[in-house]
Amino acid sequence: MTTSSAAATVVAGLRATFATGRTKPLDWRLGQLAALRTLLTEERETLQQALHADLGKGPAEAYRTEIGFTLNELDHTVRHLAEWLSPRPAAVPDAFLPAEARVVREPLGVVLVIAPWNYPLQLALAPLVGALAAGNTVLVKPSELAPATSAAIARLLPRYLDPAAVAVVEGGVPETTALLEQRFDHIFYTGNGAVGRIVLAAAAKNLTPVTLELGGKSPVVVDTDTDLAVTARRIVRGKFLNAGQTCVAPDYVLAVGDTAGRLTEELAAAVLEAYGDDPSVDPEYGRIVNTRHFDRLTALLGEGRTVAGGDHDRDTRYLAPTVLAEVSPQAAVMQSEIFGPILPVLAVPDLDAAIAFVNERDKPLALYAFTESERTKQRLTGETSSGALVFGLPVSHLAVPELPFGGVGESGMGRYHGEYSLDTFSHSKAVLDKPLH
Ligand code: NAD
Repeated sequence: MTTSSAAATVVAGLRATFATGRTKPLDWRLGQLAALRTLLTEERETLQQALHADLGKGPAEAYRTEIGFTLNELDHTVRHLAEWLSPRPAAVPDAFLPAEARVVREPLGVVLVIAPWNYPLQLALAPLVGALAAGNTVLVKPSELAPATSAAIARLLPRYLDPAAVAVVEGGVPETTALLEQRFDHIFYTGNGAVGRIVLAAAAKNLTPVTLELGGKSPVVVDTDTDLAVTARRIVRGKFLNAGQTCVAPDYVLAVGDTAGRLTEELAAAVLEAYGDDPSVDPEYGRIVNTRHFDRLTALLGEGRTVAGGDHDRDTRYLAPTVLAEVSPQAAVMQSEIFGPILPVLAVPDLDAAIAFVNERDKPLALYAFTESERTKQRLTGETSSGALVFGLPVSHLAVPELPFGGVGESGMGRYHGEYSLDTFSHSKAVLDKPLH
């Protein structure tokens, strides 16, 4: 499907379904979410195989970070949906009394979800959960760079869900370009900022609201007062998940004061502990998505001093969990998001320097810090800006459905998960009712 007219036909079908009103009742929404739950449960192995084919994801990681993650998001939504949809009373100023006011959430219409390749299932289906819960019809465009998962989504969604309300269009740039020529009521894009700008420009023509879930370099600040062994283990766990191809992966470490030397030793020990002598035989350690990204990443090796990893094999797109010490801020690895299993460590003299380093760069999707000091936590909260600020456990905030997930500045606009998804995919309508007599 590449032509605009084919894209127009799919969107017209979804618009016609929305116009019937059948996506609005709570029962329909809950029914679709239940069907999605059945899909994820019954097709678990098929999906795990697809994720393995695309990214070498081991079955446990594929379940935890993609299938199970989406189920958690879905279950949380099902549990709270009736409450989230009930009209919220609003106080009326005395001058208007007697009168009643309330806020009613209404669906937007036809939603486009454009997903990336790194968590190709979760990042297509978690927005779908929110869009369906809000009562919309949805067009899902999975990533062409994860072809097995894209094919599974295209085959399974119409089989389990209402095919007149949920459509899947596979493809890359020509197909997405054709879709972006259509009018949607919301576009939800996850991926890089360059394409984010294309999406926003296309949406502007129709005044379509847009959520951009983008990436960037998420720093980790390691303070002088923290337990470096625990810190290193937790950084390693978050960084090398999905072979570092995670939007909220710790991108680089700012080691404050005299911690850099000891921290890099602990990071090397933590890599050994987590992945053994030869991470290539660990069935849970993933592969780089394609040779273009593999070549981009291996070109970044050789900077600083390699204290762990560095081994790689182009044929299998294997790149070992790698830690680079004594990296300069001018190094190529520090110029853009790494999005792979390479962790540079930079030394900064003190907390002021760490804060200045973060603030001189684009606002990150996540800022991580390890410190025992409440004062340091307060300073980082008040003096920096990021999509999320997490102390002590990188990447974990994503799995807390009551927290909004999204970026700020270059890391994106808008937010989702849990009730925040309802906000994103609904219009909050003001209703005022003043009796005539
Ligand atoms: P990608 O290449 O899969 O692209 C994302 C989507 O954009 C795909 O569906 C693709 O078909 C489409 N696309 C690509 N080029 C296009 C064009 N010219 N016009 C229209 N559509 C186009 O994924 P990616 O961008 O390489 O993903 C990696 C980036 O995404 C990283 O920066 C990462 O940090 C970010 N990311 C963010 C989140 C988040 O939740 N904030 C999650 C995952 C990834």
